[in-house]
Amino acid sequence: MALRVYNTLTKEKAEFTPVEKGKVGMYVCGPTVYKPSHIGHMVGPVIFDAVKRYLTYLGYQVTFVVNITDVDDKLIVRAKELGTTVKELAEKMTADYCDCLKRLNVAGIDLMPRATEHIGEMIEMMRGLIDNGHAYPSGGDVYFDVSKDADYGKLCHRDPEQMEAGARVEISDRKRNPGDFALWKGAKPGEPSWDSPWGPGRPGWHIECSAMSMKYLGKTFDIHGGGLDLQFPHHENELAQSESYTNQIFARYWMHNGLLKMGNAKMAGSVGNVVNVADLLKKYHPETVRFLLLSTHYRSPIEYSDDRLAEVRRSLDGFYRFFERYQRVNGASFHQIEAPVRQGEVPADGDFLKEIGGLRKRFLECMDDDFNTGGAVGVLYEMLNKLNRFADDKKVEDASAKPQAKAEFTEGVRIFKEMSQILGLFQEPAVAAKGGDDQLVGGLMQLLIDLRAEARKAKNFALGDQIRKRLTEQGVTLEDRPGGTGWRL
Ligand SMILES: [Zn+2]
Repeated sequence: MALRVYNTLTKEKAEFTPVEKGKVGMYVCGPTVYKPSHIGHMVGPVIFDAVKRYLTYLGYQVTFVVNITDVDDKLIVRAKELGTTVKELAEKMTADYCDCLKRLNVAGIDLMPRATEHIGEMIEMMRGLIDNGHAYPSGGDVYFDVSKDADYGKLCHRDPEQMEAGARVEISDRKRNPGDFALWKGAKPGEPSWDSPWGPGRPGWHIECSAMSMKYLGKTFDIHGGGLDLQFPHHENELAQSESYTNQIFARYWMHNGLLKMGNAKMAGSVGNVVNVADLLKKYHPETVRFLLLSTHYRSPIEYSDDRLAEVRRSLDGFYRFFERYQRVNGASFHQIEAPVRQGEVPADGDFLKEIGGLRKRFLECMDDDFNTGGAVGVLYEMLNKLNRFADDKKVEDASAKPQAKAEFTEGVRIFKEMSQILGLFQEPAVAAKGGDDQLVGGLMQLLIDLRAEARKAKNFALGDQIRKRLTEQGVTLEDRPGGTGWRL
């Protein structure tokens, strides 16, 4: 099956064919950097990071661009509140954003252009739009004339009247039509500004993305992504001005991810229910958060709650225990397994590996079906169950285990690793990223385990049992295994 992608523009899934054979250009709208990142800001990057990983796996050379909006009304207001400059605030919040991305293993972004570094390109584009009659200067501003764009509204599938009613259209007597939007805003006193042929000012939000995406990916590129809330007006306007400027198709596939939902409300600054990534990661390992975001189909809303996170953490435990099991079998870490990052042939000797190969095929079919990461995660669970059952049946942890069974088990785990890394999961030991407290807990636990072993050796079973019982009361389970005693919460 070939990769099929749902396109918001056509409202259909279609086979993916890039502009240039073997290459993919992907642009995803990034944040306005005026506050620390909340978890809603991470949804798009995590999803499109998995999209890039899969496209890379299929053999494409992918360029993934995420912009930074570092000048905007919100930034100007916030910088004033904090008594700092827009530039300083933007730099600090960009660093916070990049740190959050790194922690969530969003490793695939190739370029992160900043709006303020591309004013020249934006002015160039506005000049072209004025020359070809799609935009007009007015009182120090420049506006895009929606009435000159015959197919305006094609991305959100609405006609102009409906769009005006649906959006909070800024009323201004400088505009020719109420739906016209600003490409350039004349400077007000005390605001950051740049020189332009129409006087000092700063760019509107939409033109930033058009200018930067086309600069780095060309006039026509493959995938334009972003949250569902950006479809209108942001993406509609980006599309309108870009295609009016170049007379070419702007993006071939428009992909919109669903938003985080808390109860029935969307998580947003305007609703006041945001959870900062930095705070969340004090409570949960980043992998728990990444796993949660990828467990739902990207076009659906993602249900977010403490219960849901706790549930995810519990299910991840099953994977982490399995990795310990792998280590006991092979004496090497699961995380050191080298699995291909590009698709290749899989050896399918014997019934067990045929079954694992079948699951691998299903995993890839999910991803081919519009990047269904939720379905793919479901297949990972099935693989885990099958691997555990095989390890039980063949007693692969025992010294007497047959080398053939161990080899099949090892090969099965390698295939599991190959699939999980497409989602950017399980690439590092989840415990290694924990802080000093956890190291201390690990040390103290080992001490108790050793004391219990000493007690049992001295036939003081009452003391050994007491240690186990008291730990159970604290929510700690001891597990006696062939290689020694382990523990888990
Ligand atoms: Zn954008």
